[in-house]
Amino acid sequence: MEYEIIIVGGGPAGMSAALVLGRSRIKTLLLNTENPRNMVTTYSHGFLTQDGKHPREIFRIAKQQLTKYPSVNYKKEKAIDVKSENGSFSVSTENNTYSAKRVIIATGHKDNISSIGIEGLTEVYGKSVYPCPFCDGFEMADKKLAVISDANMAPMFSKTISHWSKDVIVFTNGEHISDKGMVLNLQKNGVSIVEKKIHKLISKGGILTGIELEDGSIIDREGGFLPDTNSTESTDFAKRMNVPTEIGLFGMTYYKVDENKETDIKGIYIVGDARTRWSGVASSVAEGSEVAEAITHQIIEEKWK
Ligand SMILES: Cc1cc2nc3c(=O)[nH]c(=O)nc-3n(C[C@H](O)[C@H](O)[C@H](O)COP(=O)(O)OP(=O)(O)OC[C@H]3O[C@@H](n4cnc5c(N)ncnc54)[C@H](O)[C@@H]3O)c2cc1C
Repeated sequence: MEYEIIIVGGGPAGMSAALVLGRSRIKTLLLNTENPRNMVTTYSHGFLTQDGKHPREIFRIAKQQLTKYPSVNYKKEKAIDVKSENGSFSVSTENNTYSAKRVIIATGHKDNISSIGIEGLTEVYGKSVYPCPFCDGFEMADKKLAVISDANMAPMFSKTISHWSKDVIVFTNGEHISDKGMVLNLQKNGVSIVEKKIHKLISKGGILTGIELEDGSIIDREGGFLPDTNSTESTDFAKRMNVPTEIGLFGMTYYKVDENKETDIKGIYIVGDARTRWSGVASSVAEGSEVAEAITHQIIEEKWK
């Protein structure tokens, strides 16, 4: 076997796994296309000691620090297939095929903002309209905020956002919130609802200034949040291998893993957004570290006579 482990994907989860495996002197291959989900945003927040750094800078430091560990081989290559072969796995890229007894899938989720079909949304995404209040709520606090959401998620999400600002308007883009009690509850808590269809978002240099509705009226806003980014898995390796799923937080589908982040397919592990859809940087780093420690323990057990 060329490698003891192959990590596919080098965002916070995969890089963190590589770091801990490197420190455990485990022969590791890390394949990475170097395009973590948060590259679109201006600053990354909430990760201790790196609060407010650009994601590119966090990535640069992580990559540089990995060079210290000789057992980690980093390659900027795109994995195109992961196959199970007689108790081990092969991972192919365009020009190469690598093999290992274990594979960590850390390829994340990708947001599909243009598929939401709102003109001007791509321009403000990550600059003044964000998916996560814990990541950017502090910077958007007390501003005139928009929650752009379907009728289903609007009530719960705007309740959360109203913690950061008392000026929140929910835009359902043509959908109707049918639960009258919910509408009254939002209004009682100072959240306004606009159910008209959005024509486009108006912005300058990525900063939202207003939302134009289909009737031509413009409602001024300074930023906003988006609970659903139409995100999809960056790769379908787990799906193709029929890794079982389970229902997790907020009814979302997660890949089922045990306490070692190992799936029902022995030797396949999933961490970070690839497993949860949204882990955030700190939790992705923690998951990467945890899976690396668990695998090191497994390898120690296998070698122990
Ligand atoms: C706009 C925005 C702002 C955010 N702000 C914050 C914030 O402030 N704080 C915070 O904690 N979280 C934030 N997040 C969330 C955070 O980006 C993710 O939760 C985190 O990046 C997940 O880490 P990951 O390693 O699982 O996946 P990713 O970071 O997405 O990394 C996956 C990696 O796998 C690589 N890859 C994909 N496919 C392949 C392949 N086939 N072969 C090889 N490599 C591949 C990608 O290039 C990438 O490098 C934000 C997200 C967005 C979209």
